[in-house]
Amino acid sequence: MQVILLMMPPAMGEELERRLHSTKASGVECEVLHARELERVPDLLPPGLVVVWDEGGPLEPLAALCRHLDARRFFARTQLLVLTQRNAAGCEALAQAGADECLAPPGEPWGARLVALQRRLKPRGEPPAAMSSQEFRRSSLEPSFQALMSGFSAIAGDEMFRGLVAQLGSAFHGVGALVGVLTEEQDTLRTLAFWSEDHFEENFTFPLTGTAHQEALRRGFFHVPEGARMYFPSDRTLSRLGTGGYLGGVLRDTKGRAVGVLAVGRRGALAVDRKDHVLLEVFAARAEAELERLHAEAELVQTRVFLRNFLEAVPDPIFIKDRTHRWIILNSAFARVMGLPMEKLVDKTDYDLLPAHEAALFWERDEQVFSSGQPNEHEERLTDPSGNTRIVITKKALFTVMSGEPFLIAIIRDITEARRMETQLQLSERMASVGTLAAGVAHEINNPLAYISSNLAFLAEQLEQETAWAEQRAEMRDAVQESLEGTRRVRLIVQDLKSFSRADDESQGLVDAHRVIQGSLRLVRNELEHRAQLSLELNAVPPVLGNESRLAQVIVNLLVNALQAFAPERLAGDNRIRIVTRAEAERVHIKVEDNGQGMTPEVQRRIFDPFFTTKPVGVGTGLGLSICNTIIQGMGGSIEVESVPGVGSTFHLNFPAMRDSGREPPAPQKPAGPRKGPRRRVLLIDDEPAVGAAVRRLLYEFHEIHSVQDAREALQLIHRGERYDAILCDVMMKGMSGVDFILELENLSPELARHTGLMSAGIFSEQARAFIAARGLDFLRKPFEREGLRLFVERLCG
Ligand code: ADP
Repeated sequence: MQVILLMMPPAMGEELERRLHSTKASGVECEVLHARELERVPDLLPPGLVVVWDEGGPLEPLAALCRHLDARRFFARTQLLVLTQRNAAGCEALAQAGADECLAPPGEPWGARLVALQRRLKPRGEPPAAMSSQEFRRSSLEPSFQALMSGFSAIAGDEMFRGLVAQLGSAFHGVGALVGVLTEEQDTLRTLAFWSEDHFEENFTFPLTGTAHQEALRRGFFHVPEGARMYFPSDRTLSRLGTGGYLGGVLRDTKGRAVGVLAVGRRGALAVDRKDHVLLEVFAARAEAELERLHAEAELVQTRVFLRNFLEAVPDPIFIKDRTHRWIILNSAFARVMGLPMEKLVDKTDYDLLPAHEAALFWERDEQVFSSGQPNEHEERLTDPSGNTRIVITKKALFTVMSGEPFLIAIIRDITEARRMETQLQLSERMASVGTLAAGVAHEINNPLAYISSNLAFLAEQLEQETAWAEQRAEMRDAVQESLEGTRRVRLIVQDLKSFSRADDESQGLVDAHRVIQGSLRLVRNELEHRAQLSLELNAVPPVLGNESRLAQVIVNLLVNALQAFAPERLAGDNRIRIVTRAEAERVHIKVEDNGQGMTPEVQRRIFDPFFTTKPVGVGTGLGLSICNTIIQGMGGSIEVESVPGVGSTFHLNFPAMRDSGREPPAPQKPAGPRKGPRRRVLLIDDEPAVGAAVRRLLYEFHEIHSVQDAREALQLIHRGERYDAILCDVMMKGMSGVDFILELENLSPELARHTGLMSAGIFSEQARAFIAARGLDFLRKPFEREGLRLFVERLCG
């Protein structure tokens, strides 16, 4: 046995060595090693005695030395003794650090101590014959390496561990072999495979304390040549198997932490050399690799579970596709959108499940993301395999994994329901708007209608009284003029309805603001005289560019609004409306002011919004100012409002001033005197008899007009040989349409078809629109005035 004397003063060392050798008599052979420095002490302390000399000084370095030695000694077979003068507390601290005993120098009866020690170290019973490592190599190492290298690479998990321990056991001619892992508490070991001679035992868990495996875990490698079951009496497995020789090695994870043990036991003695270490290390490395793989696999499973839970927690449909456009991961929200269970979707492409045109589109958009790396977002229609179509917004993006392989992730928002609600809302809003609009249109049209019909009644009355004509002539002319102005307004309102947002296709010219103001005042004259005091301050202003009727519409609207802003109970004498015009730096300014109820700032902010009104249904439409604003902007001008509730409102209109070219502005309304050409025979086809009568009245001076209400009748007349110079035909008619008539006529009389024209109130069927566009036909817009009608008919007659 070996005795190591550490940091011993030379005299004391010699004395001790002498005494130790004197114990020879008692049959104890001692090999003494003097070491001043720790470096000279072997890494693994051999069985025997280590005696440390305490030089005094601070306690901690000595305690640290004890801890260090304790960790390196042969568990239970190396005694650690400290020769020290320290008090009880110091000795206790050293005992805590690993010292087995603290003695006061110089020495005690060393011989007796050594004899007792030797007895403890000696295994009981006959030492079995040890097999040399050369012998096992001859017998089984070679095949073990072979098996390790080739056989285990294909198998994994339990099977792999079983193969490993069986191979380890037979390599060392063992009675048992195990691979085990530390449980979470670190104080028990759970077997992953336990081989015992010719069979595998059920896996089990056992406490580590007092076992040879604990030693293997502590040291990294642990070898008991013989009598292992006696050194570790509490190790039940060693006793059960009657283990003599034991060899165990620690298993570590990639971070170097001890995670388990690989061990083999022999019934007899087990002598090992360097190569056997290597063999155990190779087995251990294989076990570690498998543990690592299992760990990675468990982590992968965990990550998968995490990912799956994450995907499932997202309420929006999500999927991931690989570079071949196959769905590889998806959540159940996506499976629901597709109307299929998840497993029916995995590994499929769009083409497998969706209509071809949708699949082609999705494929193309996926491909854009794959090739550009840029995310994209699209609103798409998605029809599932059972034919249900959904509207979805799909956001797609690319990501790559460590190998560089690209994947596409898509998050889908199903907006089918939202879109349906939106459509419904739009529809109901539109219905509400249509109602308001209808009421408003009635209001706008009723005003001119009111004075047109009263003017016509006045004219009818005058015509009855032949004698009074001469005096009333001027008044009658005014009534006719105003009525014509009224019909123009109605026509403009109808145009507004078609598109009140576009002030297009109407004649533009230099407009005299004063004439427009005077005309507008005439239109509201009646109401104005009864409800308010008017004051005018019309300063000389240059003309503005626009359409006279449109500007009149603006002024009338402002005047009507002003009149409606007066509280009904107020006397007409208290209500004031003031109109001012002024030329200001290249601009024409028109101000319309009232002392009505005024507007709150909230109302002022919204008055130009279409359909915003504070008036009851039937009175206000909320379109007036919105239309005014559009008209004014179309003229390059602006409209602004100032208003104080309870005090009144002022509207400021501003227009760019036009330079008067010096010439008289063209008298807009006066038609050029009709030239009389040759009198022609014209056929008029319109299912509305009044239109025929009106056309006859307007043109009887110039042409001979025949009118029919049915296109088929017209065809019969032509067929019978009636001759006409031109035909004017309505587009939309009951029975045969204008387009069908021309098509028939082209067969019957191509020449006459070339002299046939269409007229329309502006509503076309798709067929008519295409027909007119394809032939580049001109057509007469209803309502028409005499001059327009005459010129159109003359063009037809050619
Ligand atoms: P409507 O007259 O049909 O309501 P408008 O677009 O012409 O539509 O006007 C919108 C709203 O602006 C009116 O309902 C009213 O509340 C307010 N408003 C317009 N002009 C005046 C005014 N002169 N005085 C007070 N309020 C006005």
